[in-house]
Amino acid sequence: MTELEQLAAEVAQCHKCSLARGRTKTVPGQGPANARLMFIGEAPGFHEDRQGLPFVGAAGQFLEELLASIGMSREQVYICNVIKCRPPNNRDPLPEEIEACRPYLDRQIEIVRPRVIVTLGRFSMARYFPNASISQIHGRPKRIGDILYLPLFHPAAALHQPRFRAAIEQDFLKIPELLKQAVPVEEERPDQRAQQLSLF
Ligand code: URA
Ligand code: SF4
Repeated sequence: MTELEQLAAEVAQCHKCSLARGRTKTVPGQGPANARLMFIGEAPGFHEDRQGLPFVGAAGQFLEELLASIGMSREQVYICNVIKCRPPNNRDPLPEEIEACRPYLDRQIEIVRPRVIVTLGRFSMARYFPNASISQIHGRPKRIGDILYLPLFHPAAALHQPRFRAAIEQDFLKIPELLKQAVPVEEERPDQRAQQLSLF
């Protein structure tokens, strides 16, 4: 079993918050373990909960269109959410649910070790840009260590608001340049690599 499969198996058994009771399937994440680009959304919706896969509904279709606009496909990227189980009626995740689910997202980032992380919507943005307003900082990348973070509007919000749609389409075009600027995996600082390895 790969590390990501092991993690998915743990998520499938998880009852650390009350969202476990209402879910059909858990939605751990999807994509290659060596992806250089990771997307972090909010939480599974109706279709994701049914299929156990992230971003497979309308927002997912839009995300695939955005990826196509930069010559990429979803098979090349790792896609996951802050929360791995669907909140009732798609309500916003609660702080205690985000906290309970945090270790899974932390581990996904440790395993995949992406070079660029795109946050979709404010719950995923809040992890890296605390107290920031998405209207002000969307499309403005920030480097922390070896990872470049790009905060974007949520594609579901963009689907219903032409203003957000134009913004996310523009902001998305910055991704290829960020991937070029990103630290190549082989040039990583050896001390960081050692720290990562010692976690296992
Ligand atoms: N919205 C999200 O934030 N995540 C999904 O997986 C689907 C819709
Ligand atoms: Fe566990 Fe996260 Fe699902 Fe809550 S949302 S039950 S913490 S996997």
